[in-house]
Amino acid sequence: MQDTPPSVPDFTQWPSFPFEGDLRVKQLDDPVPVEPPRRGEGNRECTACNAPDEAYIWVGERWRVRAMDRPTGLPMVLILESRSHLDLGDLPNLLAAELGVMTVRLERAIRSLDGVARVHVNRWGDGSAHLHMWFLARPYGRLQLRGTFLSLWDSILPPISEAQWRENLALVAAWLAEFGGRPLAEPPRIQWQAPSSLAESRAESTESVAEDEAASVIEAAEEIPEPTEAPGPTAAPVPEGTHPPTDGPKPEATPKSTDAPQSEAAPESTDVPESEESLGTGEPKSEQPQAG
Ligand SMILES: [Zn+2]
Repeated sequence: MQDTPPSVPDFTQWPSFPFEGDLRVKQLDDPVPVEPPRRGEGNRECTACNAPDEAYIWVGERWRVRAMDRPTGLPMVLILESRSHLDLGDLPNLLAAELGVMTVRLERAIRSLDGVARVHVNRWGDGSAHLHMWFLARPYGRLQLRGTFLSLWDSILPPISEAQWRENLALVAAWLAEFGGRPLAEPPRIQWQAPSSLAESRAESTESVAEDEAASVIEAAEEIPEPTEAPGPTAAPVPEGTHPPTDGPKPEATPKSTDAPQSEAAPESTDVPESEESLGTGEPKSEQPQAG
C-alpha cells in the first residue's frame, strides 16, 4: 500500500458501479519509455487478418462483424472490423465514410433486438492495431447498467441463454445482409435434446459462429495486461493465431474495460446522444460519465 493512497473517486458510489465494500486505488506502475507492439503490429501476428470469414456472423466486401465465442451477460456484444489492416486514424475517406454507415446500421440492428434499450459503441484499440469497434447492448430497464461500466457488467451478469444468443446473432446478421454482404450466423436450431445438453450444443455453435476465446469484453481486455509484462505471456491463455475472433475481443482489449472505460471517458461522445436522457435525470454527474 501507499503511504498516502489517493482517495476513491465518487463514481464508486454510483448505482452503476458494480462493486461495493472497501476499495482503494491501485498504485500505478512507472510509465514505460516505449510501448510494446499491439497485436498486428511490429512482429506480432494479426488475428483479424488471419481470421476466416467463417469466424464472423456477417461479412461484406470491406467490413466484417463478429461475436464473442459464447453468450455473455449482455444481450449482445459484437465487433465491427475493417477487412483492411488499418487503424481508425488511418482509414481512407471511403472507409471512414463507410464506418459511419456501418456503425449506424449495426446500432440499429442490435437495438431492434427484444430487450435491448441502448447500444454502446466503443473503440479502444489498445490490444490490436487492426480497427475494431465494439457494440455493447444494454438490457432494457436495467438502469444501473447505464454508462461506461457496462463493459464490466458484461462479465458480472449471468450469461444469456445459448438459444437467445444465437437467435440474436442470426437476427443481426440477417439485418445487415439486407444491405448486402453475407450472413453467416445460422438461425437457432431446434433443440431436440434435453436442456441439459445445451452445453454440448454450445460447443457447436461456438465453432460455427466464432472462435473467440474472449468470453467477454473485459476479458478481451486482457491485452492490456500483456503489454505491461511482455508481449506475450498474458495472452498465453489464448494463442493469438488460434482464435481470430478472440483477438477481436482481446484486441479489444480494447473495449477493454480496462482501457477504455476509464481512460476513455471520452466515451462521452458516444453516449452523448444517448445520455440525453440521462442528462435529464437527477443524477447528471454519475450518468454522464458513465453514460458517456
Ligand atoms: Zn490485421
